Amino acid sequence: MVPVFDGHNDVLLRLWLKKAGDPVEAFVKGDGEGHLDLPRMIKGDFAGGFFAIFVPSPEDKDWTDDEEANPPPANQVAQLAALATTIGMASLLFRIEQASGDKFKVCRTAAEIRTAIAAGQVAAIFHIEGVEAIDADLKALDVLHQAGLRSLGPVWSRDNIFGHGVPFRFPSSGDTGPGLTEAGKALIRRCNALNIMVDLSHLNEKGFWDVAEISTAPLVATHSNAHALCASSRNLTDDQIKAIGKSGGMIGLNFANGFLRADGKWMSENGLDTMMRHLDHLMKHAGEDHVGLGSDFDGARIPAQIGDVTGLTNLTSAMTAHGYGQELVNKLASENWMKVLERTWGS
Ligand code: ZN
Repeated sequence: MVPVFDGHNDVLLRLWLKKAGDPVEAFVKGDGEGHLDLPRMIKGDFAGGFFAIFVPSPEDKDWTDDEEANPPPANQVAQLAALATTIGMASLLFRIEQASGDKFKVCRTAAEIRTAIAAGQVAAIFHIEGVEAIDADLKALDVLHQAGLRSLGPVWSRDNIFGHGVPFRFPSSGDTGPGLTEAGKALIRRCNALNIMVDLSHLNEKGFWDVAEISTAPLVATHSNAHALCASSRNLTDDQIKAIGKSGGMIGLNFANGFLRADGKWMSENGLDTMMRHLDHLMKHAGEDHVGLGSDFDGARIPAQIGDVTGLTNLTSAMTAHGYGQELVNKLASENWMKVLERTWGS
């Protein structure tokens, strides 16, 4: 099997929303629900990845089938409420580490990740997707960084004090409104100073180019696909893909059917061949050192041929069958992520 390092999952949200039982135990012992838990990660050779903390919008309903590609705009979240939820979900991450019997480690440097993986531990990065929890003075950022935060997306697909998230639209360009606010620009500079990775995946186009202009770090979109193949507002134009490659950055292939399929449909099935076409396209424009995986496990509907984390081997086998050599498969599965983390954080 090929070990996989993954750019995005929402298992903490799944556990946070769990109605019954102890969420830590559910993860560590394995509840078999959703896409991820620890026993299945070990079985699927999931070496590690970005564990997102995401604060759901108040009063957001589940999307209905006909809204799937064009849901209503998400409600905004107030800072203190977001901070409380963020601390609660971060606590889940640390309690999982404590309860895992040394099988799961929250890592703060690239060297720690390599050591953890070599020791057979799942290596986790503390990531926040949409930083409503952080104040305009960035005081909460200092504290979260000290607690182990190493990566953040300034916005999810909704507006906050830092910028304008790209709403989910299909078909649509990602050019849906203004870019970063002044507070958002200050956030990017502070992330650069603290070596916190900035994730571009939910920014709109103007926000993306604002970060490209300001940031001194490689440009990273942890879970996005090629707009040329699936015209979702969430996907990247060829110019964006090229800019990411040029910066020494990274794109994680999102497994969500709705960001892969040419018709943008969420609920319909989708084969691994579509994923290969996106990988080919991303590599054509970014280069083969700047593409990897960003599953969106526990955050999206994904191809049945993967099913859950134990099906990652079907994806890496599909890469081999598609003609990628072993070295390229290893780069896409994990090594490119390791290198961009080293470039962003220092090793
Ligand atoms: Zn996301």
